[in-house]
Amino acid sequence: MDLTTNNLHNLGSPYAEQLAHGFGDLRFKGLIEKEFRESFIEQNLLRGRVSGLLALGMILALTFADFLFGATPGTEVLNTLRLYVLCPLVGLIVLASFHPLLKHYYLPLAATAVTLIGFVVIYMSMTAALAGASYVLGSVVLMVLAGCLFLGLLFHVAIAISTLLVLTFLTMGFFMDLPFNELLYSTVILSTAAVIGSLSAYNLEHALRANFLETRVLNELAERDGLTGLYNRRMFDDFIRRVWRQARRENVVLQIIFVDIDYFKIYNDLQGHQAGDDCLKKVAQCLARAAKRPFDFCARYGGEEFVLVLYGPPGDYSRTVPEQIRRDVIDLAIPNEGSKIDNLVTVSVGVATTHPGAGRSLAGAIQTADEALYEAKQGGRNRVVFMNADSCEVETGNFRVRDRLRA
Ligand code: GH3
Ligand code: MG
Ligand code: MG
Repeated sequence: MDLTTNNLHNLGSPYAEQLAHGFGDLRFKGLIEKEFRESFIEQNLLRGRVSGLLALGMILALTFADFLFGATPGTEVLNTLRLYVLCPLVGLIVLASFHPLLKHYYLPLAATAVTLIGFVVIYMSMTAALAGASYVLGSVVLMVLAGCLFLGLLFHVAIAISTLLVLTFLTMGFFMDLPFNELLYSTVILSTAAVIGSLSAYNLEHALRANFLETRVLNELAERDGLTGLYNRRMFDDFIRRVWRQARRENVVLQIIFVDIDYFKIYNDLQGHQAGDDCLKKVAQCLARAAKRPFDFCARYGGEEFVLVLYGPPGDYSRTVPEQIRRDVIDLAIPNEGSKIDNLVTVSVGVATTHPGAGRSLAGAIQTADEALYEAKQGGRNRVVFMNADSCEVETGNFRVRDRLRA
């Protein structure tokens, strides 16, 4: 499925937009970046924790081996650095991956700790190399790769730390009089490890970012109607229940607006199904434009019917919005020669205003909106009919019976 061509993009899904726009620079626009970083930290905590614990185990094992065999030259100072500097720093990374408060600071803490660890490991490897050990570069290489790949650092942080460590290695080797050939050879190996680590960190972060966006786009697609891009009926049922409870708690008025295209069957018969689909998309846009406040919500209710919910519409807003939708559809100027009331596509609108409270039901409010729509149709179509659901005696049977919803 080509997610980027989906009409979610037109409806302003920031995730689909970002996916279409690309993110080669590993940065999302606006709030998505913040959301990604939070999920990135969550995804990497376990990896950071396991790597930290492994590193702790390794440091303790090396210290124990030196204690038993005196394997590394200069053992005393190395063990002091291992136990009193490296262990607390690695412990800090592990702690940050566990502690609920420190979790927010995991990335800066891990970045700082791994840089300091890098300095110490470089110093230790130089000291050991000067004392005659031949295998010490390996620990610095391991350090750089682990920093890039296992601690879950963002790419730009990983590359900055790797570069800093390579430069530190070169500078320290120079001032500690490491033989020139050995220094050059080791720096080339270390730089190669830094490049491999950084490239892998780039690929890893790019893949995680792509996965983050695609998961969210897929979630949004599951909530949307495939043709119009509006929320689907399932989402409407879900949303209206939640908003009903909220309106009851906050003592706020709800307005349920049903919009049904007039003589749409004839339009389909005359113009063809494809033209019918295009017409549905355009009418859907009129509703999408009307649902612009944070708690307002519109959906495709089914077929050529749409529903808009206004949460606590202020002043005249509750009157002007339904009328505006009706006029916007006429302004689309879609010809409908089969219509018996106009030569353009028109809609009928049924509005129920309700004050969710004790003794009132959501099913009753929806039925009232449906009845208002029925009256708009009976009254000649291309019109808006308002009803107050609180004062209405709703009887099932004098209009189309809908699926009942229970509040
Ligand atoms: P009224 O003015 O009373 O609402 O009459 P109407 O013809 O609009 O209503 P009716 O319920 O008889 O017909 C609705 C039509 O909507 C029938 C169906 O072909 C068409 N329709 C429903 N869903 C779609 C769709 O996804 N695409 C297209 N092209 N047409 C659809
Ligand atoms: Mg219709
Ligand atoms: Mg209909």
